[in-house]
Parts: sequence; C-alpha cells; structure tokens
Amino acid sequence: MVSISFLNPLSPEGKDIVRELGSFEGISQDIPQLRSTVTHNPSQEIADDSEIPSNFLELALKRIEWYVKKKNHREFNGRRYAYLSDDQITKYDVISFYLLCQAIGVKFGPNSRETRVMVESQGDLIRERLGKLHVDEARQLVEQSLHLYLDDDQVHWTFFEELLSSRKIRLTELILDQGELILDHQDFMERFGPKIKHRNPLSMYQLLIGDELKELIMIKLIMQETEDYIKQVHEKAKKMVEPNPILLELAEQVAEVLSRPMQSYGYGSMGGGGGPLKAGPLNHQAFPPCVKKALEGIKSGGRNDGIVLFITPFISYARLYPDVFRMNITKRVSDQDPNLEKTENEVLPLIYEAAQRCVPPLFDDQPQEKVNINAKLGFGMHSTLKMEHEGETTWYTPMSCEKIKLHLPPLCKPDDLCKKIGNPLSYYNRRIWEVNNLKTEGSKTQEEGDAEKHSKTEVSGVQKETDLTKSNTSDPNSGGL
Ligand code: SF4
Repeated sequence: MVSISFLNPLSPEGKDIVRELGSFEGISQDIPQLRSTVTHNPSQEIADDSEIPSNFLELALKRIEWYVKKKNHREFNGRRYAYLSDDQITKYDVISFYLLCQAIGVKFGPNSRETRVMVESQGDLIRERLGKLHVDEARQLVEQSLHLYLDDDQVHWTFFEELLSSRKIRLTELILDQGELILDHQDFMERFGPKIKHRNPLSMYQLLIGDELKELIMIKLIMQETEDYIKQVHEKAKKMVEPNPILLELAEQVAEVLSRPMQSYGYGSMGGGGGPLKAGPLNHQAFPPCVKKALEGIKSGGRNDGIVLFITPFISYARLYPDVFRMNITKRVSDQDPNLEKTENEVLPLIYEAAQRCVPPLFDDQPQEKVNINAKLGFGMHSTLKMEHEGETTWYTPMSCEKIKLHLPPLCKPDDLCKKIGNPLSYYNRRIWEVNNLKTEGSKTQEEGDAEKHSKTEVSGVQKETDLTKSNTSDPNSGGL
C-alpha cells in the first residue's frame, strides 16, 4: 500500500517520518538502500553514477533538477528520474522535501523564485506520481488526502480564498451549488440529477468533476500548504541567531541548479540556424522597422496598444527570452531575470522612454498605463514590480505582424527581411543571428588570414633562421654555437 506521504509529505504520516529522523545528524551520509532502490527500478535509465542520488541532500537536488530539466529540455528523458515516481523512496523523499522547504525558507523566503519552483515542482511531482499509480490506488490516496483538508461535508467556496487569491485555482474550475463545493458523486446526483435533462447525469458528473477535479483540488491544496510551510520556516528563521549551515549550503546548491545555463541541459550555444539564441543586451540596430518607429514615439493614435501590447512584450522578450517561440515553453520574467535587474534597468526604461516620446506623452494623461505594463510582464495589476505578484497575470508574448498590420497599421513599414518572418521578434532574432554569423565568418576569415600570415611568418622565420645561422656562423661575436 502506497503511503499518503508519497503524495503529501505534509500529511501526518509525512510528519511522523520527519519526527523519526529527529535531527540533522547524518543527513549527508550515504544511504545504500536509496541507491539500491534507484538502481533496481526496472524503468530507470542510468547513464553515469552522478545520476544516482546517494543521500537525502542529493535526492532533494534531484527533485529540483527533474523539474527544471522537464521544463527546459525539449528532449527531456523522464526515465533518468524514474525513481522519483517509485513509492519505495517515500521515506527518503519526505525528508528531502522538508530539507528543501527549510533551506529555501531560511535563505530565500516565500516570495522568491526558489519558492515558486519548489511549490510548482511539488505539484508536478504529485501529478507525475498519480499518473504512474494504479487508478484505484490513486483514487484512494486522493480521497484520503482531500479528507485531510475538507473534513466537513459542506465546504463553502470561501474555504479556497487563499488558493483563489494566489490564482492557484480559478472559481470557474469549481463546481458550486449555493456557494458550496460539490465533489461527491451522490451529492452531485441529489442536487443536479433532477435538473439535468437529455443527458446522462453520471456522464455529466464524470465530465465536470470525476477524478480530475478532485486531483486538481488536492494538488493545489498541497501546493498551498507547501508555500505556507516555507513562509513559516522563513518567519522562524528571522528570529534564529544562525541558520543550520547544511540548509544554507543546500539552498546555494538549489540556486545553482536554477541558474545553470541552458547548455548544461542539452542545448548548444547559439550558432548556425540550429542552437537557441542566448539572451543578451538589446541591439537596437536589429530591431524591425515597426519597433524602431514605435520607439521614436507613437504620434498617430494607438499609443496605449502600441506601448502596452506591442512594445512591452517585444522589448521584454527580446532582452530576456528571445527564443520563446522556438522553445515553446512558457516562462515567467523571473525565470530569465531572477533579481529583475535587467527588467528594471534595461527593459522598463526603454518602454518608458518610448511612452514619453508619444504625442502626447502617454503617462502625462494616463499614468495608470504603468500598471498595465507591469500586468503584461506578468506581475498583476500593481504599480510596482514585485515577485510576490508574479504570476497574477501572464507575460504577454509579442504580437504577430498580422495583428500589428490590423491594429497598428502606421507602424508597419516592411523591408525585405519582413517578407520572410511572421513576428517582429523573429525579425530581431534573424538579424542578431546574421550579425553573429557575420562576426563568426569575419573572425574565421581573420583567423584564416592570420593562419596564412602565420605560415608565411613560419616560412620567413625559417628563412630568417637560416640567415641567422649563416650570420652566426659568420660572426664569431654573435654568441651562437
Ligand atoms: S512586417 Fe512585421 S516586422 Fe516588418 S515592419 Fe511590419 S510588423 Fe514589423
């Protein structure tokens, strides 16, 4: 029987496992049983020894690494992490979970990128584990876990206030009757059965609720509790004289896993048409005609859309995540700019300058548009960019050429390259690629030139040497042999 703590380490069973361990003593010691479980998992693929976690701390890092790679690596191989879905690791996994929450809570606090990754990875891991379990077993564990949170028969929607305000769940995802949550099959039939005409009420229940909604609610509740736990740890840590160095070291290693460049996850560096584009300082020369025109200031109407919907996504993606369309992975600004330094110092100033160049200057009569700009960057409707608000809205991707032609026609003055692309960001990437390619070719030519010179120098060197030998031979005072 799979323990509920395999899905929910914060359950009473999970807490018992932590209590049993007692202290940090021996936390970094090798656990042969863990290694053995990993290596004997029939689904496990192991390319080298470093892929096998040997102790609690390594397992903790593997949990984060799994999530980061899964999100960022197009050819992610889940079989390298098959052990994470093996319930044999439960007691080690629970300890690793607590170590991660404590390390992140102590070092980074609840509004950090590390907390977000921890919370989301926990949600993804539960989903992954549920998918690998037998349907009946998964169903039973979900019921059990939900029961821990929703022990009352009648749950009012306000119970989900925290989940709703943090947007982990939407009100439209819940099935409510007079403000009460409906999850139970019998309850659904009693309340809605007689009202459902021309449809089978059972199919309606399966469609609207079934296992899916229960799983969703359970996962989101565990994610919320994980976040709350990190918050508690952080508050306690503020009163501590000195946090445990093991936790601080683990926190540093988590940060290191999150900041590993894409190359280490299987991407090459930029080059040819093949590799991804690395984010780098903006190159204004590579901007497409529409962006250049908008940056000069929009004078012909459409100021708001031009700055908020067009320039804001374009500049932010061009600076932070130019490869978004090719990668096809949704990210947040902080994934690319963890301290928001580039966003504050390079992206926003450029957008604000363009806004002020509009006629009339955009913020003079519509200062609220600064809030809309933050919203388009994914930081909700707030006047300042704060990590705690990230995710309240979505980071808008740049408008396509088609939309620009339709909504902001005066900006589109296509040149030759425009015929080959469908989005201004692709134009920018293409130009950057051309420039880099030219540089590479240029440096190759230079290298070839240098090589030619070098070989000539060598030849002339030999000649000189010969001459020198001659001169040495002829000059007894030259110091030669
Ligand atoms: S075709 Fe696209 S990239 Fe070119 S100017 Fe028009 S909108 Fe901009």
